[in-house]
Amino acid sequence: MIPTVLPTYNRAPLTFVSGQGSWLVEADGRRFLDLGAGIAVNALGHAHPALVGALTEQANAVWHLSNLYEIPAQQALADKLVDLTFADTVFFTNSGTESCELAVKMARKYWADKAPERTEIITFSGSFHGRSSAGIAAAGSEKMTAGFGPLLPGFVHLDFGDHDALTAAAASPSVGAILIEPVQGEGGIRPVPDQCLKGLRDLADEHGLLLIFDEVQCGVGRTGKLFAHEWAGISPDIMMVAKGIGGGFPLGAVLASETAASGMTAGTHGSTYGGNPLGCAVGGAVIDIVSDDAFLAEVSRKAGLLRQKLEGLVADNPDVFESVRGSGLMIGLKCKATNIDVVNAGYAHEILTVPAADNVIRLLPALNLTDDDINEAITRLDKAAKSVAADG
Ligand SMILES: *Cc1c(COP(=O)(O)O)cnc(C)c1O
Repeated sequence: MIPTVLPTYNRAPLTFVSGQGSWLVEADGRRFLDLGAGIAVNALGHAHPALVGALTEQANAVWHLSNLYEIPAQQALADKLVDLTFADTVFFTNSGTESCELAVKMARKYWADKAPERTEIITFSGSFHGRSSAGIAAAGSEKMTAGFGPLLPGFVHLDFGDHDALTAAAASPSVGAILIEPVQGEGGIRPVPDQCLKGLRDLADEHGLLLIFDEVQCGVGRTGKLFAHEWAGISPDIMMVAKGIGGGFPLGAVLASETAASGMTAGTHGSTYGGNPLGCAVGGAVIDIVSDDAFLAEVSRKAGLLRQKLEGLVADNPDVFESVRGSGLMIGLKCKATNIDVVNAGYAHEILTVPAADNVIRLLPALNLTDDDINEAITRLDKAAKSVAADG
């Protein structure tokens, strides 16, 4: 008999009942060090007082209004994001995949009356843009698309890093945009080098294409800048955001330049829950904390410390790990052992990590984890690795 919850997930047999900072408490009382943060969502850890405060204050005032009326928390968060980024305007969503939907629609609408043949969007192998029809068609992998055809047309899939194919595709008269994650997440924590992001900007400018960054996983302070593309000193035309921006409350956003958003007039797009007061109140509290320069400097310092210790961990466990990669607190450990075995050994040693493609385990900790948490993480990962090596 089919389970009452549709069985689309492979869940670990763990039930967490409460959390504090980077720690989660299992129903049996064990304390787990959480280096997954709900897949890069709990950017400020569990039960952060400023977030709990913002949510309860809004909950006591009003929960939901709909976009038929003004929503002050939504307006305030949009103003903050415009102030802090390249963007001139923001649309709020509830998830990354919903942000993908609008990014694709916005690109098509931009071209609709200028050059309606420019419907195609260039995307890359190993990418992940969510599980909606547009998201799976954009990423294009067999694993996500099999059985779900006919797929939404209009995507040109290129191999990650194939510069010649990219140059050729960008010159095509049917292409209107390029969509890329500055740091691939699900694909195995693969950063796009800064000079390549600059090259993408130049290529987009040369052909008049829209450059769309998917910062759903790498954005909101994760790499030590508010948004990952800032390291390259360039800006996209459209950016997808979700995960960390809500700190655990379902919230996403599409940020855009005035030019890129020019087709999106009243009635062209909408979302019942998007920009809901509860989500925007929490999102405002997250952005206030994460956008602070001193906070971001601490993210970079902790990332440096963790990275250095992880290099030692890899050197000490050469049969289990191959290398460390990533950007800031978005870290991949490329495994020699099977990544799932390492994640499972972590469960046995009360530490949470997240598997990714390319035989990688991901560390996506809360951005405010402590130096003690980092030391404890290395101790537990080392025990987990030793147990995998002993079993192997
Ligand atoms: C998680 C993710 C998405 C999808 O977000 P959902 O909130 O799961 O819909 C899209 N793009 C990237 C890069 C992601 O990591």
